[in-house]
Amino acid sequence: MEKADCIFCKIAAGEIPSKTLYEDGRFRVILDLKPATRGHALILPKEHAANVYELPEEAAAESMKLAKKMAMLLRDKLHCDGLNLVQNNGEAAGQTVSHFHLHMIPRYKEDGQKINWIPSNPTQEELETVRKEIAE
Ligand code: 5GP
Ligand code: ZN
Repeated sequence: MEKADCIFCKIAAGEIPSKTLYEDGRFRVILDLKPATRGHALILPKEHAANVYELPEEAAAESMKLAKKMAMLLRDKLHCDGLNLVQNNGEAAGQTVSHFHLHMIPRYKEDGQKINWIPSNPTQEELETVRKEIAE
C-alpha cells in the first residue's frame, strides 16, 4: 500500500518518472539522481516500509535476490571493478529517504569514492562485552 507523502512510493509506482533499470510486480530498480559512481542504482520495494526494521522478511529476502541479479547485470554491462551494497537505516546512519532502499554502487579502480568507515581498536574485553550484550 502506497504511503501518500512518500517520494519513493510514487517513484516505485511509476507516478513520478525515473530512470528505471528493472521492474516487476514487487520492485523497481532505478538510477540514483545523484550517483556516487556511474551506474549507482537503488532497489525499491513497491510496498512501503520505512526501513529494514519495518520490512517484511519476505521482502528482505527478495531484495537480496534481486540485488544478486542486478549485481551480475551491472558487472556485465558496465564492467565495474567492484560493487558496494549499502543500506542506511535512520538519520544517524545517513538515511535521507524514509522508504527502504538498497544502494548498489558500482566501483571502478581509482574512482575516488569513499564509502568506508574509520576502523577502531577495541580490546578483547570490550568485544566480549558487546558480544554478551547482543547475543546473551
Ligand atoms: P539514503 O541517504 O536515504 O540512503 O539515500 C537516498 C538516495 O536517494 C540518495 O542517494 C539520493 O541521491 C537518492 N534520491 C533522493 N531523491 C531521489 C529522487 O527523486 N530520484 C532518484 N532517482 N533518486 C533520489
Ligand atoms: Zn514509501
